[in-house]
Amino acid sequence: MTELTGRVITPADAGWETARRGFALWPDYDAATPRAVVFCQETGDVVNAVRWAQENRVPVRPRCGRHNYEAWSSLVKDGLIIDVSDMDNVSCSSSGVTARVGAGIDMLDLAERLGQSGVSFPLATGKTVGLSGLTLGGGFGVATRKWGLTCDNLREVEMVIASGEIVTASATKNPDLFWASRGGGGGNFGIATAFTFAVHKVGNVAVFSVTWPWEAFEAVVAAWQTWAPNVEDSLTSFLTLLTTRTLTMQGQFTPDSDADLPQINTLLAPMLAAAGPTAVNIQMLPYLNAARLFMGVDPLQPEWRVQKHSDTQIFKSSSALVTQPFPPEATTLLKTRLEDYPTLSAAPSQPSMIQLLGGGGAMGRVPREDTAVWHRAAQFVVQYDAYWTAPQDGKATLDWINAFRRDTIPYTVGAYVNYADDQLKNPLHQYYGDHLTKLKQIKKHWDPGNFFRFPQSIPVS
Ligand SMILES: Cc1cc2nc3c(=O)[nH]c(=O)nc-3n(C[C@H](O)[C@H](O)[C@H](O)COP(=O)(O)OP(=O)(O)OC[C@H]3O[C@@H](n4cnc5c(N)ncnc54)[C@H](O)[C@@H]3O)c2cc1C
Repeated sequence: MTELTGRVITPADAGWETARRGFALWPDYDAATPRAVVFCQETGDVVNAVRWAQENRVPVRPRCGRHNYEAWSSLVKDGLIIDVSDMDNVSCSSSGVTARVGAGIDMLDLAERLGQSGVSFPLATGKTVGLSGLTLGGGFGVATRKWGLTCDNLREVEMVIASGEIVTASATKNPDLFWASRGGGGGNFGIATAFTFAVHKVGNVAVFSVTWPWEAFEAVVAAWQTWAPNVEDSLTSFLTLLTTRTLTMQGQFTPDSDADLPQINTLLAPMLAAAGPTAVNIQMLPYLNAARLFMGVDPLQPEWRVQKHSDTQIFKSSSALVTQPFPPEATTLLKTRLEDYPTLSAAPSQPSMIQLLGGGGAMGRVPREDTAVWHRAAQFVVQYDAYWTAPQDGKATLDWINAFRRDTIPYTVGAYVNYADDQLKNPLHQYYGDHLTKLKQIKKHWDPGNFFRFPQSIPVS
């Protein structure tokens, strides 16, 4: 019989509560208590965990950064959480064109470690987001239009499959598994233990933030949605529309050479002309400092590193994709919905909002058949985010955000698999479109017993 190896934490151990919980603070973790969490230190620990679970018929959940919106990576009744977050090595190749990265690293650590070698690849802006979930589901960030999604930069993945074997997938080895590992979503085919990514040399970038008065809503949304997906690839932006009636665009211009940095003024000009802003802030800074800025990290107060899983929230988020600009009536709908935000009994941890994340560019040029990412034609992603703190405010907030998304369905398509939402109808079709058929075939080949499963996992048939 196989034994569990690595750092094994059970309900009897100190640190159990921290070990078992996810980023989302609202779930009833007692309703689906695992029997243990194994923090794997090396690939062999993952192999042992999979074999042990198979021999003992125990359900498993792979886990990395714990940021699954529905906390499915942390909720498995009497099961085993196989956590890779201690596996966080980073080594850049001597040629400087690739980096091999442990599957458990989070965004800020990764940005810092790559930064030491003067390279990067597209990362998420959430500092504690895990690399595994991000990559396997796609991965948007402030360099997406320049270098594609995180998964577009993946060159190889090492995975422990349901049989306990270690397999490598790349364009030439097990290409079907490699295809599925780029957008097919985490928790479906095996447990990633290491990734090899193409990396890009980084220099200085221009980071910008522009704020407009609420009265400019229609003009700014109309201008942004034709500008953001079509502006030069080096510029990625997102437009944040807050229930506090604030309208802000942020983003990053990542030129190939510092000499091109002043172009930011010309690139932003159409947006500045769309309506008079109340504030414009443009900073030139090293790529790593920009990453820290987007991740909200104050370098003088790095204590989050000591207790990073104290970074939790009560929230509900969802997504949709837009392939044609919103017609005027859809823009009016967005504004009305934001203004109709319910009155809560306690201030939320942060304002609820929708964010529009600019697509197109390098992400849009990858042929749809090349990876499992279905929504290549998206001009932008809509992210719906609702926050509350007092339990009695949960229902009103959830009703508001769920209705918001539902009302915009006529103007949007599908959903982004990394923004897991248990309220979606036909979620797998929304995430994967026609790729679902191929994903099921690949699942059947690599996991015929459906060992890796959770509420929205890819079935074998
Ligand atoms: C605060 C916040 C900020 C975010 N910012 C961004 C952003 O900027 N861009 C963006 O694209 N997305 C963003 N996301 C969404 C994020 O990409 C997804 O939530 C992602 O799935 C998180 O991955 P994780 O490893 O942290 O989560 P986990 O909950 O650990 O895992 C997510 C899924 O992957 C599976 N999984 C985990 N590890 C492995 C593994 N090693 N092998 C196989 N399967 C595994 C899990 O079982 C689960 O199904 C954000 C989310 C949050 C909460």
